[in-house]
Amino acid sequence: MKYIDEYRDGRIAGSLAAAIRSRVTRPWVLMEICGGQTHTIMRYGLEDVLPPEIELVHGPGCPVCVAALETVDKAIAIASRPEVIFVSYGDMLRVPGTNSDLFRVKAAGGDVRVVYSPMDTLKIARANPTRKVVFFGIGFETTAPANAMAVWQAKREGLENFSMLVSHVLVPPAMRLILSSPENRVQGLIAPGHVCAVMGWREYEELARDFHMPVVIGGFEPLDLLEAIRMLVCQLEDGRAEVENQYVRSVTYAGNQAAQRVMGQVFEVTDRAWRGIGAIPRSGYRLREEFAAYDAGKLFGTEGIAAAEPADCIGAQVLQGLRKPAECSAFSTRCTPESPLGAPMVSTEGVCAAYYRYRRYAAIEGAR
Ligand code: SF4
Repeated sequence: MKYIDEYRDGRIAGSLAAAIRSRVTRPWVLMEICGGQTHTIMRYGLEDVLPPEIELVHGPGCPVCVAALETVDKAIAIASRPEVIFVSYGDMLRVPGTNSDLFRVKAAGGDVRVVYSPMDTLKIARANPTRKVVFFGIGFETTAPANAMAVWQAKREGLENFSMLVSHVLVPPAMRLILSSPENRVQGLIAPGHVCAVMGWREYEELARDFHMPVVIGGFEPLDLLEAIRMLVCQLEDGRAEVENQYVRSVTYAGNQAAQRVMGQVFEVTDRAWRGIGAIPRSGYRLREEFAAYDAGKLFGTEGIAAAEPADCIGAQVLQGLRKPAECSAFSTRCTPESPLGAPMVSTEGVCAAYYRYRRYAAIEGAR
């Protein structure tokens, strides 16, 4: 299939791996930020073709994984109300809150529905004028434009029974926190191509400059990632710390300015709690005051809900590249995709789910 098979060509993959081997002279720790990239690495066994000097660690770029426990608890509290139709992307339904999850709310009779676009929520709101329809607006910069558009459209129509529980997170502030940590081991970053397709890469230039950190904006296919790794290794071996764009077929320097405009109209930057990591300054979006009538957190009075993370999930350390899933005592025993203890085991983009699905036995063996 055009634009798919050509990025999965084994012969070209072999050439890229050889090019990496020919340049590498010492160990390097590289982080792919996005969970979609992690899944490609695991699914196609990319680590197996890399030289032993290259260690890949996995970043926080899984929106389901970093949605704070208290955010899930707020969603559960709202979805449990009889007057509410609670609408979400499917991944969020199985994410464990403190005592329940959205699937259990649905099983107990709650009206919880799955959509593929926030605009579908507007259709549900129009068709159910006597119900309160709430969309679970989570995700990175990638999903923020569509969510902003849904709120903007609701206001334009005067749709009064629609609101959004907003918990958007932003990549660069989280990376700044991870790179600032005294425990940080990361020496090069594969930036998330889809986030940069929306936002451009100006903010990544600041990361490269402030941390003397090479950054390559990477795509999601096996050849994208091998090429991004090759570009990072070349920078590291040359002593350079620049932003380079591997994902040229989707990403421009300025990003999608129409998307940025609608996000800027509807959202403003705020401090945000990340699951396991805690509050990160200016790392999320909330609705602007002009759109307060669509803020489900305010409308349903859930702003005071707080939660403590389960002690035996080391997901926060995994998402900061400090530990690997198999180092968690619950991995593949008490925590599986069927019965997840933490969010990184739930999501299709979660790093623990990727290890479980593609490298379960090798990971356990390696951790011994
Ligand atoms: S295996 Fe489960 S409990 Fe362990 S870090 Fe991953 S999600 Fe958390």
